[in-house]
Parts: sequence; C-alpha cells; structure tokens
Amino acid sequence: MATKGCSHEDQIRDAPPRAEGCEECLAQGGRWVELRRCLVCGHVGCCDSSPHRHARAHFEATHHPVIQTFEPGEAWRWCYVDEVYLPDGRELSHEDLRRHHPQQP
Ligand SMILES: [Zn+2]
Ligand SMILES: [Zn+2]
Ligand SMILES: [Zn+2]
Repeated sequence: MATKGCSHEDQIRDAPPRAEGCEECLAQGGRWVELRRCLVCGHVGCCDSSPHRHARAHFEATHHPVIQTFEPGEAWRWCYVDEVYLPDGRELSHEDLRRHHPQQP
C-alpha cells in the first residue's frame, strides 16, 4: 500500500484570497465559524462547522480539491478528494492577513 497523500499538488496555485470573509455568507448576510481558502482560485468559504459549509459547497461546484485554513496563525491544508490533512501549508504573510483581516475602525 502506498502512503496516503495528496495527488493534486500540481493544481495548487496558492491563489491569494479573493474576499475578507466567506463570499456567499457576506452576500447572504450569513454567519461562519472559521474560514477556508481555495488554493486553486482563492475562493474564501466557511468551514464544515459553519451553518452553510460554503468551502465544501465550492469544492462540490468546482472540484477544486485543496483548501487551506484562512485563520490567522494556522497553515494546514485539506484535500477533499484524497481526504488527507496536510500540516505544512505556507502561512499567509502578515501583510496578507492585515489586508484581509482588517481591524474594526
Ligand atoms: Zn489531493
Ligand atoms: Zn459561508
Ligand atoms: Zn476554487
């Protein structure tokens, strides 16, 4: 048996986040628990603990396989197809986080 891993690394473009929060929740006025960033296109969606699970819905709609957590200080990735946890994603720079997690005025 081969070691279980992710076979989609060639699809990962490390796309920068397109939004400051879950795109669908922002449009609907919904709430989320945590955010996930699609590494193929930069879609930002909410996690499986959130009511609407838009990150998973994005995978089901687009088949973009790999997401990375969009929580500050965390850098793990998850592949929906291989169902494998990848602990060593590249953390967003402080500049990215400042830009995409703006402080309240
Ligand atoms: Zn994979
Ligand atoms: Zn959402
Ligand atoms: Zn995507």
